[in-house]
Amino acid sequence: MNKLLIVGTVAFDAIETPFGKTDKILGGAATYIGLSASFFNLQSAIVSVVGDDFPQEHLDLLTSKNIDISGIEIVKGGKTFFWSGLYHNDLNSRDTLVTELNVLADFQPKVPQNYKDADVVMLGNLHPLVQSSVLDQMEKKPKLVVLDTMNFWMDCALPELLEVIKRVDVITINDEEARQLSGEYSLVKAANKIQELGPKYVVIKKGEHGALLFHNREVFFAPALPLEDVFDPTGAGDTFAGGFSGFIAQSENISFGNMKNAIIYGSNLASFCVEKFGTERMETLSKAEVAIRLQQFKSLTQFDIEI
Ligand code: AMP
Repeated sequence: MNKLLIVGTVAFDAIETPFGKTDKILGGAATYIGLSASFFNLQSAIVSVVGDDFPQEHLDLLTSKNIDISGIEIVKGGKTFFWSGLYHNDLNSRDTLVTELNVLADFQPKVPQNYKDADVVMLGNLHPLVQSSVLDQMEKKPKLVVLDTMNFWMDCALPELLEVIKRVDVITINDEEARQLSGEYSLVKAANKIQELGPKYVVIKKGEHGALLFHNREVFFAPALPLEDVFDPTGAGDTFAGGFSGFIAQSENISFGNMKNAIIYGSNLASFCVEKFGTERMETLSKAEVAIRLQQFKSLTQFDIEI
């Protein structure tokens, strides 16, 4: 079985959307990536850090999804990373209210020995120095390295972020962040500039408006499934990244054509994530539900025009 190594935050989130508010619930980029990638036939492990305030039941949930958590360090007396966000009425934009790095501030990641030869490395959102350190520890060159990041790290660790970006094959980033990183308004120009920074493939996520994949002069677009109810977009980007990297790891094919399918798998899984608060929907989601919606995705985008 192929191996996927996931790096990212395992966190507490407090979320407010027009539909309600949560206290501290399970969150974090690596959590969403792991839950999403668990829908594929592969072995996966998370490298992250939490404090001893982090409930065992959350760790048990990850283990129950066959995710290896031996790379999640538990810091005695430490506090878990905490993030709080407020969504606006259109649910496409949000304000970060709080980011408390806590134990993440001095985290030195340790890749489990049996994942130093992982086939795919998914560098989820967290400090770019941690992302780089994980790449440094790999003993075999991964077939594909995917990186996700956000404006927070562009604001507070840009030089380190640019260093790690040089070392990855694929970057997934949302539209506003692509504009911030490149200084270009046009997403086509932004993607071209970002490719010059290192990644040969650039995925730009546009929330409910889908996602774009750029490679050289080629472009592919996948819509987001139009949903009746969107409750909480938190984690949609990470769930997308988990579906994308999980599918690539399972299929062992890193061509542009296969990446198109990976984008569809990522978008499909993300469409479930937003239906309930936090990780709730992903926790109970079944493979049968995923397969049915994949069919809907296909019908949504298929048409018959002779050219
Ligand atoms: P997304 O909605 O896909 O952008 O991801 C939201 C998740 O990212 C939440 O569960 C947060 O815990 C986590 N998160 C928020 N800010 C950061 C940050 N600066 N670094 C790493 N993870 C973060």
